[in-house]
This record gives sequence, structure tokens and C-alpha cells, in this order.
Amino acid sequence: MMELFNSALFIFEAVGYFVLMVSLLHFRHRLGLGVFLTALGVMHFMETYLAAVFYVSLPFGNVSPGSSIFFSGKLMMILMLYLQEDAATVRQPIYGLFLGNLLTVAIAWVLQLHQPLELSPGHPADVDFLKEMGWLMVWGTAILYLDSLGIILLYEKLGDFMRRRVVLRFMISGLVLLTFDQICFFSGLHYFVGVPMAAFWAGWEAKMLAVCLYSLMFAVYEYYVRRDGVAASARSISDLFGDLTFRERYNDLLERTGRDILTGVYDRSRMELEAPLMVREALRQGQYATVLIIDADHFKDVNDGFGHLQGDEVLKAIASRLGTTLRSSDRIFRFGGEEFVAVCPGTSHEEALLLAERLRWTIVTSVKTPDDASVSVSIGVATADEDGGSFTTVLSAADSRLYEAKKSGRNCVVGRSGVAKAS
Ligand code: GH3
Ligand code: MG
Ligand code: MG
Repeated sequence: MMELFNSALFIFEAVGYFVLMVSLLHFRHRLGLGVFLTALGVMHFMETYLAAVFYVSLPFGNVSPGSSIFFSGKLMMILMLYLQEDAATVRQPIYGLFLGNLLTVAIAWVLQLHQPLELSPGHPADVDFLKEMGWLMVWGTAILYLDSLGIILLYEKLGDFMRRRVVLRFMISGLVLLTFDQICFFSGLHYFVGVPMAAFWAGWEAKMLAVCLYSLMFAVYEYYVRRDGVAASARSISDLFGDLTFRERYNDLLERTGRDILTGVYDRSRMELEAPLMVREALRQGQYATVLIIDADHFKDVNDGFGHLQGDEVLKAIASRLGTTLRSSDRIFRFGGEEFVAVCPGTSHEEALLLAERLRWTIVTSVKTPDDASVSVSIGVATADEDGGSFTTVLSAADSRLYEAKKSGRNCVVGRSGVAKAS
């Protein structure tokens, strides 16, 4: 009789949790996503506390609603959040929970140094309990981190075989990851608070039951509420993993900032930031650093003859030849309209003249205007520290040599001793 009542209550809790949390998620555009996320986060302490000490008897054994209903529910909510938002959003609660729990442990460590007063008799502060709970929560969220990555990656992977079976994918992912979770979290419970092994299987069965209940409600929600279904995402697993671990967005940001939109090479702002550092670092290591300034010849004629859009195509072709001819330690920047600056650390003046000649040759033999005429460039070359001790002084030396190159008939390289002989 008792077990039956507990079972009914168990189902009631799962339904209540799901309905409330999914409502917060569903109306996030009106309420703000913070409401859903905070509710998710604030229940973490309760889940962990219940998992440690609160067990009820169900037909298949003694289980804790904390881990079976609420923890499982949270993982399924994280998957639902991913389905409705994206990996960049879902990692926020994952990281937030983990850091918040670390903070709990740290605070408990500090608090135990106090001599607390017992203001209301019979309610002594139990910092040891807080610390113990804190560790258990850190353990729980460390696993939750893996659970969350795992459930999303598995859900996506299953999409390769059954893209449209959204509910089935949801359920399989939940069953697999909560099995993993039970193995990991239970070993922590066993170790930290001595929960007996017998509770393992009952706990596992309860989690599986909870996933089935959640999947059923998920199906109802998807079918009756969201109706248009889940947008089929076709992202690669490694993309997604990068996103979840912050890497992707960070790299993307680094890559995009300071890029010239037309040619894809670094832009002038990036040059002003990086080029002086590159030169200074090379000099500090006792190496040369050479600066090349490259300007397209008679580029105005290209624009006048074929229009700006064709001119842009030629510029892109020049930038791409520069990019492939330079070495990976060199950096190429778009300095102005049709002028580029290359910074080559660890490159002597003589080496750089050869490099510049190779660039000039590559461009004049491979970049063409729409009527198949060759496009050439002139290049000025200067090297730190003989031509100057900083990027700015070296650049201005290279610039005067570019001017000489233009005067000498263009399509040539000018270095310290005048026009370099093509070899
Ligand atoms: P020179 O051989 O003396 O360098 O002759 P030039 O015609 O190339 O002269 P200059 O370098 O002074 O002129 C640059 C021209 O490049 C002017 C402008 O029309 C063109 N230009 C600058 N930026 C862009 C761009 O982003 N796209 C296109 N299509 N043309 C550009
Ligand atoms: Mg020019
Ligand atoms: Mg120019």
C-alpha cells in the first residue's frame, strides 16, 4: 500500500517537475532564459541532499527522488535546452553549476575557521555537513558536465541513423547517459556518505523509469505544443564538442576579429597591434625581422578598365598568392586599398629579397585581369635592425623603397642596395 502511494507520488513529482520546467523553458522569450536557468541551478542542492539521505520505498527497491526524478530531470532539461537553443547556451548552466559548487566548498572551508554562535538552541551550524555536501555536489556536477556533453553528442550522433526519430533519440540518449551517471555518482555516494550498494540497482531502475516518463512527456510536448518539430541540426560532432567546450567560439572570435572582409588576410588594426610585437620579439631573440610592403601596379587601370568588382577579384587573387607563398611564421596584413604588408620574423635581408622576388614572380605569372593581362606588384623590403629598430621605422624604410620600385619601372623588388636582380 505504502509502495503504491510512493509510486503515485513518484509519478506526480516527475510530471510536476517536467510541466513546470518545460513551461519556464517554453516561455523563455517572455520570461527571460535566466528564470529557467536559475530554477535549474537552485534545485541542485536539494537534489544532492536528497540523493544522499532521502530514500523512499518503491516496488523495485529503495530509491531517492533526488537523483531519480530531479537529477535525471535536470539532465533531460539540459538536452531540451540544447534542442531549443544551441550548444553555446547550454554550456552556461553546465559551467555555472560546476563553478558554483566549487565555490560552495571553498566557502565552507573558510567558514569553518569561525567560532559560530548558537543563537537558536538546538540548531548548531553544521559546516562539516556543508563541506561534505559541497564535495558531493562538486562530484555530481563534474559528472553532470560529462553527462551533458555526452547526452548532446549522443543525441546528435543518433541523428545520423534516425534523424526524424526525435523522441527515440531523446530516450536512448537519456537511458545511456543516466546509466553512466548512476555508475559514477553512486560510487561517490558510496564513498562520501556510505550509501549501501543495494541502492545502486534500485536507483538505476528509478532513473530509467524517470527517463521513460520524461520521454513520454517530451513526445506530448513536441507533438502537441511545439508541433513544427525540432529543427534538424546537421552539425558535425567535433564542431559541437568545440562549441560545448568554449573552444569554437573563442577561436572563431580570434579568427574573425582583425580580418579584412574582402581578402581574408589580417587588417590594418591587427597589424598595428601585432607587427610591432613581432619585430620586438625577433630583435629580443637576436634575430632579424623583415618587413615587405607590396603595392599592385597601375591598379587604377584595372578598376577603370573592368570595374571595381573585377578589381576586387584581382585583389583577392593577389592576397591569396601572398598567403600561400609566405611561410607560416610570416604574417600578411592588408595595409590600405591595394597595398599589403608582410612581416617575416627571423628572416635576413637577403632571404627576404629572395622571398619578395618569389612573391613578385608568382603574382605576375598567375594573377590575371579578365582580359588575361598579367597583374604585377612592386615590393619594398627593409629589415630590422639595420634599417630601423622598430616596426614603424622599418616600415617607413620599406615604403621609400617601394616608391623607388615604382620609379624604376614597377614589377620589381627594391631592397637596401637598390633594385634586386631577378634570379
Ligand atoms: P601604382 O602602380 O603607382 O601603384 O598605380 P596605382 O593605379 O595602383 O595607384 P595607387 O596605388 O595610388 O592606386 C590605388 C588604386 O587602387 C586606387 C583605387 O581605385 C584602387 N583600390 C583601392 N582599394 C580598392 C579596393 O578595395 N577594391 C578595388 N577594386 N580597388 C581598390
Ligand atoms: Mg598601386
Ligand atoms: Mg597604392
